[in-house]
Amino acid sequence: MKALVKKYPKYGLSIEEMPIPELGANDILIKVQKTAICGTDVHIYQWDKWAQNNINTPIIIGHEFMGIVEKIGNGVTHYKKGDIVSGEGHITCGYCRNCRAGMRHLCHKTIGIGIDRDGAFAEYLSLPESNIWPVHKDINIDIASCFDPLGNAVHCALSYSMVAEDVLITGAGPIGCMATSICKVLGARNVVVSDNNIFRLKLAEKMGADKTVNISKESIEDCFEELRISNGFDIGLEMSGNPNALQDMIRTMYHGGKIALLGILPNDTLVKWDEIIFKGLNIKGIYGREMFESWYKMNQLIRGGLDISPIITHKFKPDDFQSAFEIAESGKCGKVILEWS
Ligand code: NAD
Ligand code: ZN
Repeated sequence: MKALVKKYPKYGLSIEEMPIPELGANDILIKVQKTAICGTDVHIYQWDKWAQNNINTPIIIGHEFMGIVEKIGNGVTHYKKGDIVSGEGHITCGYCRNCRAGMRHLCHKTIGIGIDRDGAFAEYLSLPESNIWPVHKDINIDIASCFDPLGNAVHCALSYSMVAEDVLITGAGPIGCMATSICKVLGARNVVVSDNNIFRLKLAEKMGADKTVNISKESIEDCFEELRISNGFDIGLEMSGNPNALQDMIRTMYHGGKIALLGILPNDTLVKWDEIIFKGLNIKGIYGREMFESWYKMNQLIRGGLDISPIITHKFKPDDFQSAFEIAESGKCGKVILEWS
């Protein structure tokens, strides 16, 4: 089969002929239709420090996908050939304390497809049945290929009650933009989105932001008067991974405010701890999606009218992966889709 592979430990990727994955008794073989490029895939493409420390070559990359069930293992009970599916790329142990408590997103033995084992950027992908998510017929298949990052946004946004709250989202990347729409649907009073990328700030506007702030020109507090925010934000979703963004957030939060950290901050990030303490802020780390409550909620939110379609800005064929990764690297995009069939 055709696959997009990190063949050697150096910059770049290549299309290679790879064997169709083996199928265990409880596995499902998926004929991949659409995949979406994540920041992680760009790190692997660029072969940066993170990739060098975390990826063993050769590996098929990618973890955001949708496709059609091609074949099922003998032990599979809930799916049949022809079903339209997406799936959770975190394969959990099923046996640790958290897995057994129904909190698989907190498994300490998680294995990631496209990172620790072969991924989804290929004509076929094999995944355990317990990781498969059935795509409802009401859901557009382009959107279904973005369920993984949409699930990150849902996981963050559903961490706190949004009703009537003033929300700051730092980072208008694909996940920040999707979170914007979700917060509005969940009843947030104001959603303010910060970034320095004009293309993405425009995208955040399309996704329903009440106000976007270009941090290279203005400071976040400048919008307080216009939006009639008295004392600062009630909720903050950090979706940039940039230390300055976290600092902006801590500074502009109201006392008792709640922060969800999704963006992966560098280990040497400095924060004003006294401000966190004196303001009594709550900070929650977010990893992945709740299995499978985030999946259920995003499914029903979309079926109920949540529209994230503006987030998909580009589509390419796998042979044009070079152009797809260049546009993803440039930041002048939302989600970039690769169409396998
Ligand atoms: P992205 O990198 O495409 O978007 C980040 C955005 O933040 C960019 O548009 C960038 O211009 C903006 N930004 C940079 N500095 C900023 C600043 N000082 N203030 C405001 N905005 C700033 O990322 P994405 O795909 O949307 O993902 C968002 C973040 O979440 C990334 O850091 C990603 O690594 C992380 N992530 C975490 C998980 C998890 O499970 N915790 C999962 C997926 C992604
Ligand atoms: Zn576990």
